[in-house]
Amino acid sequence: MAQKQFAVIGLGRFGSSVAKTLYELGYDVLGIDVDEELVQDSVDIVTHAVACDSTDENALKSIGIRNFDVVVVAIGDDVRSSILTTLTLKEMGVKMIVVKAQDTMHGKVLEKIGADRVVYPERDMGARVAHNLISPNILDYIELADDYSILEIQAPSKFVGRSLEQIDIRRKYGCNVMAIKHRTHINIAPIASDIIQEGDVLVVVGRNEDLDELDETR
Ligand code: ATP
Repeated sequence: MAQKQFAVIGLGRFGSSVAKTLYELGYDVLGIDVDEELVQDSVDIVTHAVACDSTDENALKSIGIRNFDVVVVAIGDDVRSSILTTLTLKEMGVKMIVVKAQDTMHGKVLEKIGADRVVYPERDMGARVAHNLISPNILDYIELADDYSILEIQAPSKFVGRSLEQIDIRRKYGCNVMAIKHRTHINIAPIASDIIQEGDVLVVVGRNEDLDELDETR
C-alpha cells in the first residue's frame, strides 16, 4: 500500500509542529503558507514547501491538493481564511480534511461545511495540563466524550506486586486497563494474571468520576 501523503496549510506554531512530526515519522509532507519567509524557514521540516494563498482555488488546483490523502488546515487567527479554505478543499473533493478551530463557534461552522475532523489544540492542551496540575500522578489525559476519558497514571503503590485479577480494577473502580508501561516496554494487551510492578504506568479508560476515584487510591 502506498504511503499516505499529507499537506499542511498554515505553518504557524501548530501547523509546523504537525508537519515536522509527520515528516520525522517518514511521511511525505507538503507545507503551504501565504508567508514566503515562513515557507523558506520550513524547508528542513517538510518534503516540499509552497507559498500560496489557500483561499485561492486555482492555486490549490495547481498544487494538486486533491491528490493528498489528508489535508490539515492550521490557520487559527484568520477565521475567514480557515473557513474559506476548508470549504474550497471540500468542494474540490479532498478525502480527509482536519481543521484547527479557535473556539466552539468556529468549530461548529467547520463541522457544518464538512470538515472531517476539528481539533482544538489550545483547549485540549489546557485541560491536559490542568489535570496534571491537580494530580501529579496523572501523566496524561485524553477526553473521549463529556463523561469518559483515558488516563495515563502512575500505578498506585497499593497495586504493586498484585495481579490485575487480584486488584479487580474493572469491578472495584469500573475502569479498564488498556495498557501497562514498564520502563521502555509496553504491554498493550494486559491479561488478568499480569502483575503490576513498582514504577509501572497504567493507561486506563473509564468514566471521569471512576477515574478520579482510581487516582485517589494510593
Ligand atoms: P499558531 O498558534 O499555530 O502559531 P495561529 O493560530 O496564531 O497559529 P495564524 O498565525 O493565524 O494561526 O495562522 C497560522 C499560519 O497560517 C500563519 O503562518 C499564516 O501566514 C498562515 N495563513 C493564514 N492565512 C492563510 C492563507 N489564506 N493561506 C495560506 N496560509 C495562511
